[in-house]
Amino acid sequence: MSATPPESDFASMYDLNITHAPDAGGHFGRFGGRFAAETLMQPLKEIETAFFEAWADGSFHAERLDLLEHYVGRATPLYHAERLSAENGGAQIYLKREDLTHTGAHKINNTIGQGLLARRMGKKRVIAETGAGQHGVATATVAAMFGMDCDIYMGREDMARQMPNVLRMRLLGANVIPVDAGTATLKDAVNEALRNWVATCEDTFYIFGTAAGPHPYPLLVRQFHTVIGQEARAQILKQAGRLPDVAVACVGGGSNAMGLLHPFRDDAAVKLVAVEAAGYGLKTGKHAASLAAGKAGILHGNLTYLLEDDEGQVQGTHSISAGLDYPGVGPELAFMLEEGRLQLDAASDDEAMAALQLLTRCEGIIPALESSHALAAGARIAREMRPDQIVIINLSGRGDKDMNTVFRQLGWLEDAS
Ligand SMILES: *Cc1c(COP(=O)(O)O)cnc(C)c1O
Repeated sequence: MSATPPESDFASMYDLNITHAPDAGGHFGRFGGRFAAETLMQPLKEIETAFFEAWADGSFHAERLDLLEHYVGRATPLYHAERLSAENGGAQIYLKREDLTHTGAHKINNTIGQGLLARRMGKKRVIAETGAGQHGVATATVAAMFGMDCDIYMGREDMARQMPNVLRMRLLGANVIPVDAGTATLKDAVNEALRNWVATCEDTFYIFGTAAGPHPYPLLVRQFHTVIGQEARAQILKQAGRLPDVAVACVGGGSNAMGLLHPFRDDAAVKLVAVEAAGYGLKTGKHAASLAAGKAGILHGNLTYLLEDDEGQVQGTHSISAGLDYPGVGPELAFMLEEGRLQLDAASDDEAMAALQLLTRCEGIIPALESSHALAAGARIAREMRPDQIVIINLSGRGDKDMNTVFRQLGWLEDAS
């Protein structure tokens, strides 16, 4: 499917064709689909229809790309980290600087897109789930900018752990609603947001935070994030005169990974690597590696890999980075793994901490703990390669939000929690 591309130098960077689309039911191979309450089938279909209409409408992209350029700050740089490359003694490492976007992480690409879709559908209120608070902040940001009411569902446990983001959302005018069910964390917040949506979908749009959930969310979240990989592809061709050998991204639900990796999918020579959170180690059971250690099942409206115990209960996860602490993963990544197009890797809490410190010391860039997982695995891969080869790592966010966790890990702060 194609659309009339808006005419500007900025807009001409982006390819608006949708490739590797799921089937009509939202299936990527055997994964994905739409497993939702009967009452949500209609609103989900309305979003799907609105999305395809918007995507084929040049004026939708004109406004979206204008906001991405002037509000978000795109295109983000692709930075050749020469000192980090030399430190590792292997391939040249390039960093895609999503940390430099407005609000400090890739999530805003998606909330701008879904916010525009909500407005186009005449919705006055948006809701979202959040774990670490990053998607909540990105949603509250666009709700403020579009003048919409905004309710964010957040586990009470997560609220206590991420108070600065809770206060940030409040400052932006959003209502943060505590969720006490289950373990009072992200998966419970998603359930509660879905439950509220059942009752309010007439005037409310659910802005889903990652490339998961029921169809059409995995598709539309991916499409709104492909700007990352499309820019990176054009930038590396310009800067290095060729495509990378490897592209690497961390995986929570899979939105920054799909954003970077999707535009390289048809470049058979480019290896695509997804890095999961190994927490205390894959063997300890205390991790969030759904692709490496999970099995197929249904979570939050789609068939994917998830972590569950022998009774089929969704398992508690652990990662030092709240943004990777999710027991499922986007269905398209599950499909790409089974298809053999995706290479799987993992980084532990300790490896992520070491990677964060190394990048900070040798490049003066403080990355998010989530992104530090991609850095750890990406550098490990680069070390086995030649200096004339190229690895692109997605720096999905900046580290400011993680400083308390990091200082505590380093023993520089009394543990107040
Ligand atoms: C939320 C978040 C992630 C993980 O989410 P994905 O949907 O897997 O991208 C990674 N990095 C940062 C900085 C985040 O805020």
